[in-house]
Amino acid sequence: MYDLLIQRVDVLQIANGAPVILPQHDIAIAGQRIVAIAPAISAGLARETLDGAGQLAIPGLINSHAHIAMSLFRGVAEDVPIEEWFNGFIWPLETNLTPEDVYWGALLGIAEMIEAGVTCVADHYFAADAIAQAVQESGMRALLAWTLFSGADEHDQLARARQFTEQWHGAAGDRIRVWMGPHAPYTCTPSFLRRVGQTARELGVGIHIHLAETAGQVAQSMAAHGQSPVQLVRDTGLFEVPAIAAHVAHVAPEDIATLAAHGVAVAVTPKTEMKLGIGVAPVTAMRAAGVTVAIGSDGAASNNTYDVLESARLLALLEKLRNSDARALPIGATLELATTAGARALRWDDIGVLQVGARADLALVHCATAHTQPLHDPAAALLYSSQPADVSTVIIDGRIVMRDRVLLTIDKSRVLREVTARIERLTQRQTEQRMAVYPELAAGE
Ligand SMILES: [Zn+2]
Repeated sequence: MYDLLIQRVDVLQIANGAPVILPQHDIAIAGQRIVAIAPAISAGLARETLDGAGQLAIPGLINSHAHIAMSLFRGVAEDVPIEEWFNGFIWPLETNLTPEDVYWGALLGIAEMIEAGVTCVADHYFAADAIAQAVQESGMRALLAWTLFSGADEHDQLARARQFTEQWHGAAGDRIRVWMGPHAPYTCTPSFLRRVGQTARELGVGIHIHLAETAGQVAQSMAAHGQSPVQLVRDTGLFEVPAIAAHVAHVAPEDIATLAAHGVAVAVTPKTEMKLGIGVAPVTAMRAAGVTVAIGSDGAASNNTYDVLESARLLALLEKLRNSDARALPIGATLELATTAGARALRWDDIGVLQVGARADLALVHCATAHTQPLHDPAAALLYSSQPADVSTVIIDGRIVMRDRVLLTIDKSRVLREVTARIERLTQRQTEQRMAVYPELAAGE
């Protein structure tokens, strides 16, 4: 007996970088997993059916780098360079946050992601226990990291991160996993990074870090340590555990070789990199070297949306422009960044695909819209024409969390009320109070 049968849907699979469509198939789900994909499965075998006609079933999208509670700061720091973005806006504003604020901000970000077909997120923030609560209640899937900075309270931060890991890693039927989240090599000392790596090894978890975001950061690392950020972090032992490095826009060939040799996954967040004018990772060169490249949104204070397909689309366009080659990052490879490569980056091996045995994380996308018809190429329509509002229904771990655009696990009007009520307090800026300090860097090349 199946719990759910999705009928007559076009199924998107990606095999070796190429999209494949299985037309008019049924998808049977039992418990948390996909148990059959075939034409005309008997509806009598299912407790519940969903009509998928005219829709495309896609693997739930994976957001490999985000700060979902930063939905609260969407639009507060526009058209400013990264140093002012951090020191003048984000880090002063974040001192206003209470765990309750983070909880409502996280629910807002999760609601937006589910509405855009995103079913899994690798998040990096503080008050991560409030985020875990939001993830648990909403039915979302997440890999959470509690952001760590160097400072007088390093010992307490590590103890809290350890306790958070022990409490939440594997929680909610393994929908929630936890890694360590050292912020970056420019906000964490090498000795602190070493201790974080040691803790990750002891707990058997990975790490998620920001790395080589700007040319100035690389120049400063060379001046202070005689090493690039990538080589510095490698020497602290952080790459001895599974690792996601976000941004990684400025790397030399030996850095790319190091990332490949240690199996470090790179989460590129092209909209943030473009908006802050900091440069975008050399994705084609990284992939050619064997680096797993995945796609992230980053926070809504720099991206403004958690629309993973928009970020993937931007990255494909950038790679074509950078390489002066329309063949760079083709559709199948780009969709992989947001699905199978995301799963590889998060070391979550049974998501990111629509296959028998995989976790039932998927979205149904309407294709009968003016902006996607006629449907010569469903994968092209998805990547280059679709909009988040085309996503009708989302299933995570076998559970329907959105049906016909109605969120079933999140009270969206309450979330919007709670967020609105907080905004005046949250946007008061006292720049002498900051979460951390972005260092003054040489301009870089
Ligand atoms: Zn980030």
